[in-house]
Amino acid sequence: MGQELRGAAPSRREALGLIGAAAVAAPLAAQAAEPQFPPGAVIRTILKDYAPSELAGGATLFHEHMSTRDGFMTDWLRHSAETREANRAPGTPARPVGPPAAAAGATPEPNFMADEGLMVGEMEAAKREGIGCIVDAGHPDMGRDVAFLRRISQRSGLPIVASAGFYTQPFYPADIGSWSEDRVFEEVMKQVRANPTGALGEIGSWDYITKDERKVFRAIGRVHKATNIPIFTHTGIPGKSALEQLDILEDAGVDPKHVVIGHLGNLADPNTEIQRAIIRRGAFIGFDRQGGAGDAPVVSMAASLIAQGYADHLMFASDFSSPRDLKKNGGAGYAKTLTVFVPKLKAAGVGEADLHKIMYDNPRRFLAFVPKIKRTA
Ligand SMILES: [Zn+2]
Repeated sequence: MGQELRGAAPSRREALGLIGAAAVAAPLAAQAAEPQFPPGAVIRTILKDYAPSELAGGATLFHEHMSTRDGFMTDWLRHSAETREANRAPGTPARPVGPPAAAAGATPEPNFMADEGLMVGEMEAAKREGIGCIVDAGHPDMGRDVAFLRRISQRSGLPIVASAGFYTQPFYPADIGSWSEDRVFEEVMKQVRANPTGALGEIGSWDYITKDERKVFRAIGRVHKATNIPIFTHTGIPGKSALEQLDILEDAGVDPKHVVIGHLGNLADPNTEIQRAIIRRGAFIGFDRQGGAGDAPVVSMAASLIAQGYADHLMFASDFSSPRDLKKNGGAGYAKTLTVFVPKLKAAGVGEADLHKIMYDNPRRFLAFVPKIKRTA
């Protein structure tokens, strides 16, 4: 632990020195040695297994979405509004339920995550902007289509990691309450055997963690033990049940270094107590909805954690979901973590070496695993 927990923040003079060094360096140039990976470790993408060093040349995004079923986001927004309403403090005003277009009775927008030509263009743009590998956080209960991901990866040349698991209570199979933990384990193992699977994620609790969600987390811990495949999670706003997620996985025997507890930018706490508690146990934390309007509190939390010596445990991504963010619609595109969020950290004085570590090295350290089962295709 000692080396990772250096503790003291750099002095103002040291910090200024770092800024000066950053100004003359190439953008996010590699400044540290290549991280060490266990012998035999691979990053398992849909098309092939890579040695982790083969993906050193680009940034890796550990939590994005490129394929969901039609209507998934509409359902997601409706469940979010219902949860917000259920949690609303007495006497505070209600907020409108659902997206504005739905409220106005307009025709829903077509699902861009089913438009192959569009998505190939978006992946090509991300690649041009420095992305070397991207993880799709979907699985069957989100309507993720592996064949679609395979085609957009083939056509764009951008390596894509496909995931497995179950998402959160509102999206589980209706009868999951009657399933045993063994049944959940077997269902996830079936997914892992059916497709080349490089991550178990996003595995979530929607609000405070439910009985069924605990069962899924226990089963996912067992799948990890059976396969070595790494795990990333979804927490409800603001970081609800984050510590509990890690408790359950650790109880199942999972080493926290193979876990990202996700969406902790939603827990906007200048003291970063929960974030640091998770890091001290050896897991990564995800600031994974970045590259947009909500960046400001996360920039200061991330800069503070980096100044305290915790850069080895941070993971950045955007959890891409909005058509407004597509290049095609004038948005920043799938690379927005790198092109929008990272520059804000640089402006806040974070050094090149730390940012390189977080965008290029940490996701590969997280994704690299020594397979216990052979890839299927
Ligand atoms: Zn997500």
